[in-house]
Amino acid sequence: MKNKINTRLVGIAVLAVIATVVGITIIYYGLFQRRIRADLSVNAKLLRDTHYFESVNIDINEIDLSTDIEELRVTWIAEDGTVLYDNDASTGSLKNHNDRPEIQEAFIGGVGEAVRRSDTMNKNTFYYAVLLDNGTVLRVATNAQSLWAVFVSAAPIITFIILMIISMCVVISHLLTKQLLKPIEVMVSNLENSDYESPYKELDPISEMLRSQHTDVLAAAKARQDFTANVSHELKTPLTAISGYAELLEGGMVGEEKKNHFYQEIRKNANRLLALINDIIKLSELDRVDHGIAFEKIDLYEVAHECVNELTVNAKLKDISIAIEGKESAIHGNRELIKELIENLVQNAIRYNNPGGKVLVSVNTIDNTACLIIKDNGIGIPAADQQRVFERFYRVDKSRSKATGGTGLGLAIVKHIVEIHDASIELDSAPGVGTTITIMF
Ligand code: ADP
Repeated sequence: MKNKINTRLVGIAVLAVIATVVGITIIYYGLFQRRIRADLSVNAKLLRDTHYFESVNIDINEIDLSTDIEELRVTWIAEDGTVLYDNDASTGSLKNHNDRPEIQEAFIGGVGEAVRRSDTMNKNTFYYAVLLDNGTVLRVATNAQSLWAVFVSAAPIITFIILMIISMCVVISHLLTKQLLKPIEVMVSNLENSDYESPYKELDPISEMLRSQHTDVLAAAKARQDFTANVSHELKTPLTAISGYAELLEGGMVGEEKKNHFYQEIRKNANRLLALINDIIKLSELDRVDHGIAFEKIDLYEVAHECVNELTVNAKLKDISIAIEGKESAIHGNRELIKELIENLVQNAIRYNNPGGKVLVSVNTIDNTACLIIKDNGIGIPAADQQRVFERFYRVDKSRSKATGGTGLGLAIVKHIVEIHDASIELDSAPGVGTTITIMF
């Protein structure tokens, strides 16, 4: 960030310096040229008005302007363009001047002006010519730096200014980033403090987002920790029981009549372990493949019918009748997961029911929404527990759940599958009356 701000600042400053220097130099050079031209015209007119070059008896060899006017070149040109006098070069070496634009202009209009690049690249020569009364032309000229030369001569100072600005930018960007980052650092260190208000209101949405993400991360970490602790505890209980029964049997301390009971206990606990491990695997699979699940068009009624058929025997053993009603309802979902969901809910409706109880599974499409309802007239769930039954390992009556083969993970799996299918789940229950669970796809 510091480097970015630094580069931007330096870039802007250098561009600004270059633009200013170029702009000012061009404006200044324009003024400078105008000044030179004005001076030349004054000089030429002054010389003309002395009428010196119009005297009849002028001796060219006696004219000497070079000592007095060093920077001013004075040339006197005859009507035919021949150079009569030049204070800089001997007249003989100079060519006929009739081709010079300023001379041509002066012969025609009385005055003529021209600027020519001098023999050296860095200089321009400014000419101003006036027609004298005797028909000859007097021309004055002076050299001045070209625009490029002005730039070149300004280069060291420009470089110096740019270097100064770059060093200033480095310092400023350092201070600026420090100042900019400070509130962000303070905000991050105050993520857990909900009373903290960020100093910039522009940071509020980020602060809110970070805070909620932070809370989510903490909650997820805590949930994972709790889950691991619960899993260990849940696995330990049946394992300890199995180990205890086996030890007693091994020691030969169990009478023949009790042995059968011990074998049964070992099998029951082993089954519990299996059920637990199966549910844990299912949950972790759901956690993992959340986004890569294959969806297809399935008939909710057909899947529900299959589950009901499979669980009828189980229900009969507990003297519970189970029925299905409704009609074909197409949904977009994963067949295996939907079957798992219905099985868990129907199993609960059987498990937490009374002998002679009833379970009714209904599948319908209402207003284009497929709806699955599983209703029982069992023991029901107290209002205080209704929110928590979807938590992992939460059971209202632990011993009943365990005695009937529950793992405490069934509804957690159901909730997960509902979320994956973007569906909604509603629980309506009253102790002693029964439970109705509605899922809308
Ligand atoms: P479990 O394996 O113990 O059944 P679940 O996650 O499926 O675990 O259910 C959590 C708890 O919710 C159960 O222990 C039970 O107390 C309660 N519960 C679930 N379904 C019903 C129901 N149909 N009737 C009454 N109680 C229920």
